[in-house]
Amino acid sequence: MKYCKKCVQPDTRPSIKFDENGICPACTYVDKAQYIDWEERQQELLKIVEKYKKHNKINHYDCIIGVSGGKDSLRQAMYVKDVLKLKALLVSCTYPPEQQTERGAYNLANMIKLGFDTISIGPSPKIWKRLMRQGFLKYGNWAKSTEMALFASVPRLAIAYHIPLILWGDNPAIQFGNLGAGSMTWDGNRAKNTNTLSGGPDVLIEEDMQENEIIWYRYPSDEEMVMANLQIVYLGYFWSDWSKINNANFSIAHGIDIRQKNSLKQGALNQFEALDDDFVVVNQMIKHIKFGFGKVSDEVCEMIRSGSLTREEGFKLVKKYDGKCDNEYVKRFCQYIEISEEKFWEIVESYRNLEIWKKNESGEWQLIDFPDV
Ligand SMILES: [Zn+2]
Repeated sequence: MKYCKKCVQPDTRPSIKFDENGICPACTYVDKAQYIDWEERQQELLKIVEKYKKHNKINHYDCIIGVSGGKDSLRQAMYVKDVLKLKALLVSCTYPPEQQTERGAYNLANMIKLGFDTISIGPSPKIWKRLMRQGFLKYGNWAKSTEMALFASVPRLAIAYHIPLILWGDNPAIQFGNLGAGSMTWDGNRAKNTNTLSGGPDVLIEEDMQENEIIWYRYPSDEEMVMANLQIVYLGYFWSDWSKINNANFSIAHGIDIRQKNSLKQGALNQFEALDDDFVVVNQMIKHIKFGFGKVSDEVCEMIRSGSLTREEGFKLVKKYDGKCDNEYVKRFCQYIEISEEKFWEIVESYRNLEIWKKNESGEWQLIDFPDV
């Protein structure tokens, strides 16, 4: 396990490739970003969206934005409305009531209140739960199916409503250096190739599930996308001050509700991410066991790149908080997907990568290559 020489990104992240100097793609991107002509990019964006204005004579929507009501989607929606002057239809694929937090429901309502037309998609909770269970059992990743639904339902609805432009915020290739997502530009038409989405729901479905029960999880085919003339655009690419912290500040000023801070329980430094669901804490812990990094590593990487933290300070925070998950979350997750806690830990431990972990003298797991901080 090697760490990027500039941040704390490990090379165990799926689909990542460091350059010959041991630098991760996200750091390389940030280095180059200082030479970007943002004004030129702004003009490029205005040119791209211009051809979609009043495109749709049937629905009168220029674009669709996939939203959760959280910090990124709120800032995006306001920007599209106030700066790009596009008429947007917001589409939200929401968690079932057993999983969605009250905070999540509040934030979505807060966003709609700011003046948007919104369609909420709620896939059947029974199938939702079974697919989550399969994702956990077969891949140690309960979020595989839910991410499929969050990302596939939006283009699916765009095609059904004949709205040819979809605007997302982050390009995962830029944000994390996940090159499976395709280009490092604004073009999101290859988004379905990311690790989580590739393979589609077929890898999770059980024998008795019908195609019409899993349709929201299935990304439209290339043919469907071409026929609909669908274009997916990552807005983050055009935005000089697009960052978690800037998005959070903007959205808090516009009414979103955030978490109480408890990094040791939630394995996260920030209080403004993944607000609509708590099982994400469990998933980040599992990711830490599988790949040696979790949420805090991602947060620290971004802070180092923005200059608000040194690499050494970053490693200290990672050591203290990464992968932490209060047992209360595990308990609730086990109740939800209907397995015992014993079975849960048995499965989670089966995903521990023994090439990167070893036990110390006190019997605690430690990352073999973690720096001494
Ligand atoms: Zn890096």
